[in-house]
Amino acid sequence: MFQINDQMKTRFAESPEQFIEESIQQYVREESANRLTSFGNDPIFEEPLVGFAAGDDPLFDEYRKVVHEEHFSPREILTRHLAETLKIENPQLESVSVVSYILPANRETLKSNELEKEGPSLRWNHTRWKGQDFNNALSHDLAALLQTLGVYAMAPETSPFFKIMVIPGGFVSNWSQRHMAYAAGLGTFSLNEGFITKKGMAMRCGSLVVGMKLKPSARPYAHYRANCLFYAEEKCGRCISRCPGGALSAEGHDKVKCYRVLYEMQAPWLKGDHGPGYIGKYAGCGLCQTGVPCAGRIPAKCD
Ligand code: SF4
Ligand code: SF4
Repeated sequence: MFQINDQMKTRFAESPEQFIEESIQQYVREESANRLTSFGNDPIFEEPLVGFAAGDDPLFDEYRKVVHEEHFSPREILTRHLAETLKIENPQLESVSVVSYILPANRETLKSNELEKEGPSLRWNHTRWKGQDFNNALSHDLAALLQTLGVYAMAPETSPFFKIMVIPGGFVSNWSQRHMAYAAGLGTFSLNEGFITKKGMAMRCGSLVVGMKLKPSARPYAHYRANCLFYAEEKCGRCISRCPGGALSAEGHDKVKCYRVLYEMQAPWLKGDHGPGYIGKYAGCGLCQTGVPCAGRIPAKCD
């Protein structure tokens, strides 16, 4: 939970981008929920990355075509939040921005999952579920902090407007966190439909929409899959051989096969067949995000 004081108000007024970034960093560093309590209280996530996007960036219109026609634009979801949750009709929203953040998994967790061939390590499993609880708490508390500082703010994924829709070949949501991170300059997509950031692919991400102007971050990539060696240099494909269910190929990610691994093949992990303590709706897999050159960085070469 963030504690407000006068010094924070001054820092926010002077540089809201820096204030938000430092607040997220501090939350990740200090909150007790960011702890793997079954693993000596190691942090679940390491130092986060933070980026910003202009809410009226034309890219968000594209998302209606490439993600789903019901994908929200930042302005739409914030307006809906104000009207339906806060009961504010016709709010004056001169500017809207997106705050996106990346929570890189602890390097020890990557190492533990790297050793696995058929299903996730216990550390990875706890990172998947306890990590998402932490992520939800972060976005909620950050929105509350910004509201206290006088800015409209909401976390789309934990709002009542968020939904997951069934489409041919899988599922899609009306607020894609990875697409927000792409817009905010934090990384690009990959062969396995992951997202490769400066700190790698093994991460969870989140975002907020705020009713204020924030300086958009640069998008330092030529292409939406530029950080993946398979598209940048026509080589690698290491994630393909990591998948225990044949869900990855040169054609990309087969979501149906992937779900089969998560919900059927790896069901014994939740029953305790591979050791006690696994939690969540499914064990978590993540094999294609570890033991690969993009696990913890933007890969320079496929080593
Ligand atoms: S392992 Fe290689 S091909 Fe697969 S996502 Fe990473 S960089 Fe791309
Ligand atoms: S998450 Fe697991 S099952 Fe899904 S594509 Fe990656 S390795 Fe395959």
